[in-house]
Amino acid sequence: MRIARSLVNSLLSLSSERLADLSPSAAGDVYRLSSAFAAFAGRPLMERLDPRVLKGAMSLVSNALARTPYGSQLEFDHPLVISLSTSSYCPFACCNCYASSGGNRERGRASDRVQLFAKVARSKTPFIILSGGEPLVADGFEECLGLLLDAGKFVFVSTNALVDPSLARQREGQLVFILPVWGDRKRHDARRGAHSFDRLERNLAALNGVGQKPNLHIVLPDNDFSALRDVERLVRQYKINVVTIARRIHTGRVDGTRLVLSASDLSTLDHWRAVLQRHVRRVVCDLPELQSTAAPGRLHSLLGLRNFEGCAAGNWMMHIDDTGQGFPCFSFEGRQHLAVPRHLTIGDQWRAVRQMRAEFPGGVRCPGEYHARLEETV
Ligand code: SF4
Repeated sequence: MRIARSLVNSLLSLSSERLADLSPSAAGDVYRLSSAFAAFAGRPLMERLDPRVLKGAMSLVSNALARTPYGSQLEFDHPLVISLSTSSYCPFACCNCYASSGGNRERGRASDRVQLFAKVARSKTPFIILSGGEPLVADGFEECLGLLLDAGKFVFVSTNALVDPSLARQREGQLVFILPVWGDRKRHDARRGAHSFDRLERNLAALNGVGQKPNLHIVLPDNDFSALRDVERLVRQYKINVVTIARRIHTGRVDGTRLVLSASDLSTLDHWRAVLQRHVRRVVCDLPELQSTAAPGRLHSLLGLRNFEGCAAGNWMMHIDDTGQGFPCFSFEGRQHLAVPRHLTIGDQWRAVRQMRAEFPGGVRCPGEYHARLEETV
């Protein structure tokens, strides 16, 4: 097994060094090889991936493999994924909003945003998720997005606004839209605003029209899974790449009862996962309840890596709010006593976030929710 680890490490570092010089067809071969490798690890790559993104990801993974002691969990020296709040302004004011954003434009000047995006663009992190406030209405958004794309990042944009398909057409292999679903049409509109579900369908049609397959992000606010019937219709009617099923978490920013998923709920979700899987490339059940039951990955065993303890936050993902402060994930946003100062480099912010992760109490499934509840009881 140690030999397998050293072989893979050499292969990754060699490939990432040479990827920039490859012809488009050779780069395609490397992509297919890496894609098979990632699928084997249970984390499939996107259908089309710009070679610079692949190079960034491979160099981060190969560096992590080199620095991780045999038998430990993978230690990234920079986050693999950064979620970034584009602004604190959102015109929709959804009653379910996770972010500490709203109709107030006080924070988030366009010039500050450009600086923040430029800092993230200079980082080694290959995958960036832009969330809100609503990204598509932020002043200077296209310029900011351009900074990330020009730097070779793969960008996911999570939006409730109407997408201009020409934006998606420009950057094949580097840009994917994530469209959240918070219930069936009626319940989604009640939470996300009138006509929000119509807008979601218009976005699906428009993005498919320019050859893009968006991702759907289903958030379950409660044990009513009727939304999944609407989602089944959507995946039959439109071309959709990945469907993620998550549960609503309690962040303390808006009222909400805690969703507890029973064994029978999890088995219903498993049924829906199989139904939806027939129509999309992959369905990911991103539920903290399933973390402890996850089987050790085959690739992890082969390479002598321990499975990550807990969720993405601080293991391979970091969140940055619109003022530049770092957090383990978006659910911590607004908790100033846990904020990592904005003047630090991304690498130093990541080290502070990893340290925070190491101090999370063991056995807590969602540390963000845990901290929100802790504050309510103080
Ligand atoms: S703390 Fe972890 S489980 Fe909770 S919302 Fe953040 S990433 Fe998800």
